[in-house]
Amino acid sequence: MSFLIAVIAAQGDVEEHVLMARMALKELGMEGSVVATIDKKEVAKSDAIILPGGESTTISKLIHAKSIAEEIKKAAKEGKPVMGTCAGSILLAKHGDKQIERTNTELLRLMDIWVKRNAFGRQRESFQAKLNVKHVGEFEAVFIRAPAIMKVDSNVDILAKIDDYIVAAQQDNLLAITFHPELTNDTRLHKYFISLF
Ligand code: GLN
Repeated sequence: MSFLIAVIAAQGDVEEHVLMARMALKELGMEGSVVATIDKKEVAKSDAIILPGGESTTISKLIHAKSIAEEIKKAAKEGKPVMGTCAGSILLAKHGDKQIERTNTELLRLMDIWVKRNAFGRQRESFQAKLNVKHVGEFEAVFIRAPAIMKVDSNVDILAKIDDYIVAAQQDNLLAITFHPELTNDTRLHKYFISLF
């Protein structure tokens, strides 16, 4: 069986995820393909879904307008791996902060996490940090106007933190990563994501 990964091509760093996911499949010795798509049927056919970073407000509007949101929810409930990075992690959350409410950003409400948009403020708009990511190890993480996870329910596993901010979390087959693993050459997070299948 050939493994199909859909990278939701609404807006944001789509191509980078496609390349990283392809590299991860290859390194795992798996047969498979990775498509950048905004087509409902293609998303429905996929075995795993990546929701990239970008502008959460824009991505939210597009995935709802194109009925992709429904397909992501369905896939998540069927146990398929779904990874949201940066803005994508915001969309996976059940609970948003005031900024998310004020902008009427419709969330997918799949993970029992509380997210805060642009959590690191202007001083630290973009930065890199060495993290210790559970299951993965030391990871050089790139943050760009990143959100943070402020709180999780007990069914959510915290994978990485910076100070009091949670920056990676897992709830069964769902991964919320507030940084950009696709902007490094390190495929380990993508490989971990695929291993959730
Ligand atoms: N600040 C963006 C948002 O809240 C996320 C930034 C990103 O995905 N790089 O939508």
